[in-house]
Amino acid sequence: MPNIVILGAPGSGKGTQSEKLINKYNLHHISTGELLRSHIARQTDLGKLADSFISKGQLIPDDLMIDILAHTIDNEPAVKSRGVILDGFPRTIPQAEALKKLLADRDLAVDAVIGLEVPEEQLVERMIKRGQQTGRADDVPETINNRLKVYRDQTEPLRQYYADEGSYLPIDGTGTIDEIFDRIQAAVEGNS
Ligand code: AMP
Repeated sequence: MPNIVILGAPGSGKGTQSEKLINKYNLHHISTGELLRSHIARQTDLGKLADSFISKGQLIPDDLMIDILAHTIDNEPAVKSRGVILDGFPRTIPQAEALKKLLADRDLAVDAVIGLEVPEEQLVERMIKRGQQTGRADDVPETINNRLKVYRDQTEPLRQYYADEGSYLPIDGTGTIDEIFDRIQAAVEGNS
């Protein structure tokens, strides 16, 4: 079963394209951002801690995030039986290293990394619009700028990391949702 990482800046369409991928390929979806937002909504201890980072546009510390991911994978049999799409994880090189080990220990691996590539002006526009439509608390101008900086500093190096591993599939993330999804399908199916 394929395990796919979807990588991209905030606002690049990871969540939207993940939804289409899970429907098409019957994959299990793990979105670390959604998982944290659900803890924030339920006001759990993890939610309170996560909110203190998310509201500033910062990343949750690696050790904590890696533990959360391991726990989520181990409690979800569908990851092994159907394959998974990881949306929002990894976001740093240490998370990518930990993911590799965590999957290898379970006889699994990352099969493909879909990299959604979108110019920064479009990212900002999309996030502002999403903030207005959904009320998502970190889609406001001050936090958006910080999230983009954190992305450039900590997450963007993963493109090279996965290119070196031979699994990076760069995708033009501009255009309509269906156009982008067609490019993803062509890349994933060409890769299999
Ligand atoms: P997302 O919905 O993927 O844009 O994630 C929203 C926010 O959750 C991010 O800006 C981070 O603060 C936090 N977050 C989500 N995934 C991770 C991760 N893998 N590592 C650290 N922080 C994360």
